[in-house]
Amino acid sequence: MARAGTVVIVGGGVVGSSIAYHLRRDGHAGRVVVVERDPTYARASSFLAMGGIRQQFSSAVNVQLAQYSTRFYAAFDRALKVPGHEPHVNFRQRGYLFLADDASADRLEVRVERQRRLGASVERRSVDQLSALVPGVRLDDIRFGVFGPDDGYGEPRGVLAGFRAAAAAAGAEYLPAEVVGLTCRSGRIAGVELDSGEPVGADAVVNAAGPFAARLGKMAGIDLPIQPVRQQLFRCALPARWPYRFPVVIDPTGVHWRHDDPVTESDPDRLVVARTRLNEPPGENFDCDLSRWESDFRPPLVRRVPGLKPLELVEGWAGLYAMTPDHNPLLGEHPAVSGFFLANGFSGHGLMIAPAVGKVLSELIRTGRADTVDVSCLDAGRFDRGDLVHDEALI
Ligand SMILES: Cc1cc2nc3c(=O)[nH]c(=O)nc-3n(C[C@H](O)[C@H](O)[C@H](O)COP(=O)(O)OP(=O)(O)OC[C@H]3O[C@@H](n4cnc5c(N)ncnc54)[C@H](O)[C@@H]3O)c2cc1C
Repeated sequence: MARAGTVVIVGGGVVGSSIAYHLRRDGHAGRVVVVERDPTYARASSFLAMGGIRQQFSSAVNVQLAQYSTRFYAAFDRALKVPGHEPHVNFRQRGYLFLADDASADRLEVRVERQRRLGASVERRSVDQLSALVPGVRLDDIRFGVFGPDDGYGEPRGVLAGFRAAAAAAGAEYLPAEVVGLTCRSGRIAGVELDSGEPVGADAVVNAAGPFAARLGKMAGIDLPIQPVRQQLFRCALPARWPYRFPVVIDPTGVHWRHDDPVTESDPDRLVVARTRLNEPPGENFDCDLSRWESDFRPPLVRRVPGLKPLELVEGWAGLYAMTPDHNPLLGEHPAVSGFFLANGFSGHGLMIAPAVGKVLSELIRTGRADTVDVSCLDAGRFDRGDLVHDEALI
């Protein structure tokens, strides 16, 4: 149902701030209030992410959300500049490269065809083409690569700061407070209660609480199928400047990496390296297990790129994925509580689709219809219906 009054957004990460920005830009007439409890964002996923941005998905809805978003990111630093803030997302469209070995080749072959049919910018690259694209990467066990030339990576903290500054400049109000309760009347949302005890009335409330979304759902009497799951990243320094810039490279083992470019001439060349642990237990665990660098990350990376052998670990950190049963988000108004909107459960791809999510939520809140991308398949009811969204291009 469309709403014109006050919209309260709980959580001012990239998703909450993108929604606030789009609401104001799209001409929402009422107040837009973003409640964010931690102005340092130390535990926000947006602050801790890797920064990968790609349109290589295998479901229509994810491809469309990602296509809107890659275009948005390509213009971000120019378009979201506001007095007092110059965004620095620095979206480098160096591509995303999935390497296919014997075990994954058939699956990736089918996937690349499907991605093409869905309109994603994606190319199949032969081994000869790969040796020119990524010299120094061992290819003797590789059958081909799947390359998204428009994909790449940007700076997550630049996205966060840029969306927040642009939303505030457009008139969104940021409240440094924690939401500790939601007020509902006759099945409709009526507002939020802050930790100060102050109530804020609202015609719509958006759950943009990232990995903490299920707690907010409980305040509305709803069980949201979202669990926080730790994800670790490592930054390492190369002994010398690598002769070219890596795309995001996804090894068949699952280890993947991107360049972290030097800012000054004297900075070392660096990489950020990731690998999802499939059996990671759910929980709000921010401890970085440094032993994983030597056990899980470094060996497959160096096997794939022997020239990286002398690299040195700089730091490791951990953040939380917000996981749903099908690893895809919940978007839209909750069927049981009118006016309670969800923008949750992004697992590892919330940063890359945050622009489109902001646009679509703005449309749903203002007009009751998502025109930019039809996200009806990502509704909260799909888990009860057994109608999960399958996308095998998730890492
Ligand atoms: C290690 C790691 C690597 C990742 N890499 C990528 C990547 O390469 N590409 C990609 O697209 N995605 C990546 N992701 C996922 C991406 O970071 C998230 O999907 C995205 O940042 C989610 O944004 P958000 O705004 O929903 O959540 P968050 O950034 O977590 O923001 C939620 C905010 O809500 C606030 N909040 C929560 N509860 C309350 C409350 N009750 N009251 C007030 N405030 C509240 C929190 O303080 C927080 O700031 C990665 C995530 C991690 C952890």
